Amino acid sequence: MKTTLKLYNTESRSKEPVAPLIDGTIRMYTCGPTVYNYAHIGNFRTYIFEDILRRTIKFFGFPIIQVMNLTDVDDKTIKGAIANGITLDQFTEPYKKAFFEDLKTLNIEPAEHYPAATDYIQEMIDMINILLEKGVAYRGKDNSIYFAISKFPRYGCLSHLQLDELQAGASERVVADEYEKEHVADFVLWKSYEPERDGKIYWESPFGPGRPGWHLECSAMAMKILGETIDIHVGGIDNMFPHHENEIAQSEACSGKAFVKHWMHSEHLVVDGKKMSKSLGNFFTLRDLMNKGFTGRQIRYLLLHTHYKTQLNFTFHGLEAAKCSLQRLDDFIQRLCHINSTVSGGVLKGEIEKAYEQFAHALGDDLNISSALAALFDFVREVNGLCDAGKISKDEAGQALELMKKFNSILGVMHFEKHDEAIPAELQEAFERRQQARKDKNWKLSDEMRDFITQRGYILEDTPGGVRLKKG
Ligand SMILES: [Zn+2]
Repeated sequence: MKTTLKLYNTESRSKEPVAPLIDGTIRMYTCGPTVYNYAHIGNFRTYIFEDILRRTIKFFGFPIIQVMNLTDVDDKTIKGAIANGITLDQFTEPYKKAFFEDLKTLNIEPAEHYPAATDYIQEMIDMINILLEKGVAYRGKDNSIYFAISKFPRYGCLSHLQLDELQAGASERVVADEYEKEHVADFVLWKSYEPERDGKIYWESPFGPGRPGWHLECSAMAMKILGETIDIHVGGIDNMFPHHENEIAQSEACSGKAFVKHWMHSEHLVVDGKKMSKSLGNFFTLRDLMNKGFTGRQIRYLLLHTHYKTQLNFTFHGLEAAKCSLQRLDDFIQRLCHINSTVSGGVLKGEIEKAYEQFAHALGDDLNISSALAALFDFVREVNGLCDAGKISKDEAGQALELMKKFNSILGVMHFEKHDEAIPAELQEAFERRQQARKDKNWKLSDEMRDFITQRGYILEDTPGGVRLKKG
């Protein structure tokens, strides 16, 4: 492919070409969910961005090994387990399960590894031992082990903050545990066990009972699975400071090598222009939106269609617009599926090359999704025009469909099964909503959709391959 893939690097603040460090394979670490609750659409904006990134890396011909961690031990999970009188595993298990269901609903490609923090406690202890030996970690007055950021001169390289700025900022606010650490921005590597706070949840270690700090979890799992230096590390902008800054400090102090070559961060999601919060009533999990009757692919389309470095304004109007865009794509694909003509206008090949080039070029330019979608919809418009004029042969329709499949290898929102011509789009949609509603055990919506279908003279037929929509 002529086009190269360039991605913005938060650390260098410039677009850099992607070139794998080892074996031509990209090793990518993505900060995953804390499994104490259902993930919300702001979280999924980041996971969808990471999915588009992953698919784009593959589109440009690089194999990829992606790790997404599950934070199953931290203040929130421990608090939840204690409040419910159950073990940490019992508390986090349903949220882990829900998370994977949500990824499926949104057609997010699975990562190669989903390590849970509690399976890597020994690796974290090993890292702390090395940091203590090297004199960059110390025991605080509360018995916890802290990382001394003053011993790591590169601290602040990612967020471009200076140590004295951190100090100045910190002196203006009251920090509860200020006296337990040497520097206010030092962060905890091993949190000493406190029975009142932690119940029965702790691990034994050479530094006494306790549990790892959240920042350390990611470093330990990334380095164990992907190696000491990784190609790309991704997360939401919220994670850049202090989480990723701390990851760099402890990983590099430990290994003596660069931790990450390329850092990427996605911007926030807001709802109706406001920060999403439970108190404003504009806080949505994926399940909330499904219960309102929207489908996974509509939500996926809305979350992917804004460039990752731009704030995404989520609105219901936007979801309706996403629905219309998908309908256009569905109609176009069905139209191509049903072309039987042998007449060719001889111009389709040029349209395909142009669209493919524009699409690839846009993605290669730091995932410029708006331009990529513009290239896609230009193609749809041009080819619809050729269809209207009877200038597309069956063979050419097949080639156009192949191109749509290439586009969809990134977008992941199109359906290619040929429908009976007689089935109207609204019934097909009702059918898909019913299938999803049944998966979600939303029996009310499922019944409504069945009634909608049967009232229009169609039936749901059980076949060995699953339920099928058929004229009654
Ligand atoms: Zn992380």
